[in-house]
Amino acid sequence: MSGDPSASGARVPGTGNAARRRPFRQLPLRVRLLLIAVEVTAVLLVAAELLRHGPELLEPRPWIVSGALLVAAALHAELSLGAERMRRRIADTRYIDLSSVWTFAAALLLPAVPAVATVVAVYLHLFLRVFRPAGTPLHRQLYSTSTVVLAVYLVVMLREYSGVGGDVGSVAGVVTLLCCLLVYTLTNTLLVVAVIRLSQPRSSFLAILAGGEIVLELATLSLGALVAVVIVPHYWLLVGLLVPSLLLLEQTTLLRQLEDKANTDAKTGLLNADAWRSRATRLLTAARRDRVAAGVLILDLDHFKDVNDRYGHLVGDAVLASMADVLTGEVRGTDVVGRFGGEEFVVAMGTMKQDPAAGATAVRETCERIRRRVESMSVEVPSLQGAVRIDRLSVSVGAAVQPGAGTELDRLLAAADEALYTAKRAGRNQVRVRDHGGGQAGPAR
Ligand code: GH3
Ligand code: MG
Ligand code: MG
Repeated sequence: MSGDPSASGARVPGTGNAARRRPFRQLPLRVRLLLIAVEVTAVLLVAAELLRHGPELLEPRPWIVSGALLVAAALHAELSLGAERMRRRIADTRYIDLSSVWTFAAALLLPAVPAVATVVAVYLHLFLRVFRPAGTPLHRQLYSTSTVVLAVYLVVMLREYSGVGGDVGSVAGVVTLLCCLLVYTLTNTLLVVAVIRLSQPRSSFLAILAGGEIVLELATLSLGALVAVVIVPHYWLLVGLLVPSLLLLEQTTLLRQLEDKANTDAKTGLLNADAWRSRATRLLTAARRDRVAAGVLILDLDHFKDVNDRYGHLVGDAVLASMADVLTGEVRGTDVVGRFGGEEFVVAMGTMKQDPAAGATAVRETCERIRRRVESMSVEVPSLQGAVRIDRLSVSVGAAVQPGAGTELDRLLAAADEALYTAKRAGRNQVRVRDHGGGQAGPAR
């Protein structure tokens, strides 16, 4: 597993491929400072270890183990090159790197300096064969390597100070092993979450973690523990038996990532139209079953064409990404947010209100909140001529409330669309909500 700050997916919106490939100098200052701080700390700690244990470094055994782990890691990487490059290219939020089987094993088996040297060599190989061909910027690679170096360093320290060594025959040994696993995964996770949160202050901690596939991470670290405790000390030749499991892990993860990608709108990280329809249908069905009101919202940015005409499509895209942030920030995690296409967004929201009138009020309040947020939104987009700031945006919102305005998704969408049209005709930057069958949608206030 490697700490790798990327984004989008389940769902940290506003960060498609372009954001993930951003060069170092275009990152926000606070992100750059964190990257530098983590990298400098990693280098200083390793330098201190070098000074502390200089003479011991001549002992051959740790280097033999390190070399053997490197051979296994390189073989593993070469056998799964195609799947890994693709995983790397489409990785969302956090990219779980299966090479931690070998780096975690190194942390459990070796003193700090050979363990860190193993990490650096594994990542150098991955950089040349996987990450660079997949277009990952160098600064992200350096940060990933530094987070793993720090995690390995802390595990080695924990082992040394616990005094248990590699003996897992005792309760203390097993507890130490579990603590090592926890320290390794926490160090990586926290450093990755920190950088994502600094780049995307509104991103949800849980969404970042969920995007990181915790089970895959645990599976990888458990295999790493097996390598360290069983395979290296006792059955070196059985290392080959691990490889099919690793390849299978890689392929099932890739499959899930591809499925996620097929459901995601690349510019905003929201659901695309097809995925939104099926999730929204499920939400409406559940609301009917629970006899609570639910709303379908269609939101269309006003005069968006002017933004494109004036500042260009890339700036327009940044506005769309910020709009996605606003939407996900203003609705509950269980509500379903999507981009229908162009500058048109859709939301299906539950209300938890059994009384239809109270349900309609809840929907109206959410629409108004979003409208006001967009009104005060200010998007800063870096460009070659300096930063461009876009404000004075507005959105028109049409909504339909289930069950008053219908119960089928298509019917609710048609009613919300009509309400949106009414809002546009009434001068834009307005909300119209339909909570009954035919007729005009009533004004928001
Ligand atoms: P209105 O207030 O009536 O909604 O006016 P509008 O300008 O927002 O509406 P119109 O439908 O005339 O224009 C929508 C614009 O959205 C046209 C198109 O250039 C732009 N657009 C559609 N998809 C994208 C996209 O993915 N990125 C960018 N930057 N612009 C897009
Ligand atoms: Mg439109
Ligand atoms: Mg528009």
